[in-house]
Amino acid sequence: MAGIYIHIPFCKKACTYCDFHFSTTFEKYRTEMVQSICSELIFRKDTLQNQIVETIYFGGGTPSLLTEEELTQILSTIHQNFNVQIGAEVTLEANPDDVLKDKVQVWVKAGVNRLSIGLQSFHSESLQWMNRAHTVEQSLACIGIAQAAGIKNVSIDLIYGLPNMSNEVWREEIRTALKLRVQHISAYCLTIEPNTVLSSWVKKEKIQPASNELQHEHFTILQEELVNEGFEHYEISNFALPNYISKHNSSYWKGAHYLGVGPSAHSYDGKYRSWNISNNQRYIKGISCKQPEYDFELLTKENHFNEALLTGLRTKWGVNIAVLETILPLHQEFYQQIETLENKGWAELLEGVLYLTNEGKSWADKIAQDLFV
Ligand code: SF4
Repeated sequence: MAGIYIHIPFCKKACTYCDFHFSTTFEKYRTEMVQSICSELIFRKDTLQNQIVETIYFGGGTPSLLTEEELTQILSTIHQNFNVQIGAEVTLEANPDDVLKDKVQVWVKAGVNRLSIGLQSFHSESLQWMNRAHTVEQSLACIGIAQAAGIKNVSIDLIYGLPNMSNEVWREEIRTALKLRVQHISAYCLTIEPNTVLSSWVKKEKIQPASNELQHEHFTILQEELVNEGFEHYEISNFALPNYISKHNSSYWKGAHYLGVGPSAHSYDGKYRSWNISNNQRYIKGISCKQPEYDFELLTKENHFNEALLTGLRTKWGVNIAVLETILPLHQEFYQQIETLENKGWAELLEGVLYLTNEGKSWADKIAQDLFV
């Protein structure tokens, strides 16, 4: 089982909080970029060693900016060079302002069967504050348009923990989303990443980030509201109706191999993790000279152990202690830490598998870090 990730490094506007790799001036070289992505797919077609590709994911950036020809060109290249499972999950990240009837029909015709829409908010002030390219009306309309055009699996992204966002406003955001009858919701707490507009506002004291307490309250409200409506909380930031868990993202958390193409895309082959250069021009040049620029690391036993721990704790599948022990021997101190977590009500050990409780999920990254070797 394997997956392919394609990074489309174009966006209409730069969102204030975003530290992903993208450019807002891409028209002059978009054809070259798509050609380079296709060349990289061909160049690296043996990386997955003919494993069956069960998921294809267009992320970015903004993949919904691709034209019909560009999207078809990339998907055809994948089908011609990889062993793609019939009925594979094919996800396209889209922004609400790109979700138009004709465009979605094109996506469906090209083979896309899942949309992940970067909706983020139903409040005009929040969208403007984040410098999003879409309006509230587009947030409200996009899901119906996607469903009417034949997409039966729609995920949306929401953001919480905005400065001054009250619990009531956040609850209302979730309830509005629920009325739209999507199958999957990803909700992320706003983080202040270096070199973003947001971090400059914090430095200049133009804004005061939300407190940890407020973020925790928002997370608790999120769990309550979505679980009440039948969503399964299967990963810290992800909730799905039955049978709608994201296969692509789950495969990352389960350690499956994946090939990432495009600038800044990451790949994993079970031993090595590699990542392409985060520079559009150098990426194109490297591919055209058949000398792609990328970096890599060999995962040590410690890396494997820590990754298995972190990803396991973040998901509903938990972390199997016997599996951890096959990577590195566990010491008494590790078991004592687990006992402390259980006493705090943050974790439970059931039949050799360690799970976080709803309360513990709020502190998942910190708990994992404390258990890291
Ligand atoms: S659209 Fe997405 S990738 Fe582009 S700047 Fe906004 S958050 Fe970042």
